[in-house]
Amino acid sequence: MRTQTQAMSVPSPLVGEGQGGGDGRTSSVGLPPTPAPSPRQAEGASSARREGEPCDAELERAHAAAAAVADPEIPVLTLEDLGVLRGVERRGEQIVVKLTPTYTGCPATLAIQLAVEAALAEAGLTDARVETVLSPPWSTDDITEEGRRKLKEFGIAPPEPGSRARGLFARETVTCPRCGSTATTRISEFGSTPCKALWRCDSCAEPFDYFKCL
Ligand SMILES: [Zn+2]
Repeated sequence: MRTQTQAMSVPSPLVGEGQGGGDGRTSSVGLPPTPAPSPRQAEGASSARREGEPCDAELERAHAAAAAVADPEIPVLTLEDLGVLRGVERRGEQIVVKLTPTYTGCPATLAIQLAVEAALAEAGLTDARVETVLSPPWSTDDITEEGRRKLKEFGIAPPEPGSRARGLFARETVTCPRCGSTATTRISEFGSTPCKALWRCDSCAEPFDYFKCL
């Protein structure tokens, strides 16, 4: 009987150790949260901002990365200059960069999408994608003032603002990007790319590309 009692008393400390260890772990997990709530509550407002900040920062990073992508046909222009970047937004965990194509069927559209995807990946934004927005359609009026300045500097006549409204058959007045003369003649409907027409200045006799109006 005694040996049985001893035998029983022997395993009990072992069980106690095991239970103690378990209790210790449970309590060690349970204890820190008890003092923690007050600092966490105090940080509540700032932690909410911290959750928001990375989102905004990522969106800003996505916007900056996409905006800085150069147009494959006119590398002096960024997508922001072109006015094709329609916005960057978050849908769930994913960042969606909205782009609008320039000329329908323009081979640059796919190149632009691929370039933006590459830029987003380079910026470390792996969960981001490009979405094509068709409405409202892009117009050369969407090219920014900065874009027009860059085009002129590059020797390409920027599209005349509001020319789309003047209609297809209206006479176009194209200003020479070099000397500013409006005495210009169209040589060819297609310049170095399908999106540009080839013109020549009658004043300085220089040929130049004209960004076709839409
Ligand atoms: Zn000229």
